[in-house]
Amino acid sequence: MNHKANHILLPLIVLISACNNNQQMDKIEPKMVVFPKGEKITNTNFTGTAYLKPLVEVDSLNSISVGSVTFDPGARSKWHMHPAGQILLAIDGVGYYQEKGKPKQILHKGDAIKCPPNIPHWHGASADTPFVQIAITGREKGETVWLEKVTDKEYQSIQ
Ligand code: MN
Repeated sequence: MNHKANHILLPLIVLISACNNNQQMDKIEPKMVVFPKGEKITNTNFTGTAYLKPLVEVDSLNSISVGSVTFDPGARSKWHMHPAGQILLAIDGVGYYQEKGKPKQILHKGDAIKCPPNIPHWHGASADTPFVQIAITGREKGETVWLEKVTDKEYQSIQ
């Protein structure tokens, strides 16, 4: 390994060690997995307690927004659609994702999901484990269309 590589690799190893320590701390105080937990969502588009940390806003260069959403156990979005689709990256915990008429999918850390444009779906935490997702949402075709609540029956159904 040459001298230059050391300059890059050593801080990286220190950073990775620090991240591992943080992960252990998160088990005790799950406030920050990767990004800050953000603020509690107070609108009516969610059932239960969820938090949003906006990370990237739409601007003249990007027509997508990126946010980290943390769902407490049992918390979930309403049914909704994204006119330009959405990508979900599961970064911690256990979550659910379901498209209308399809079985509920269980999401684990490391899973990536593509929500097609204008397909009604919902996402949230599992019943007993929190869930953290990065939501990457296309905004060029308009805002998210919010639909009805996910009922307890729908939430609990394995279908
Ligand atoms: Mn969505």
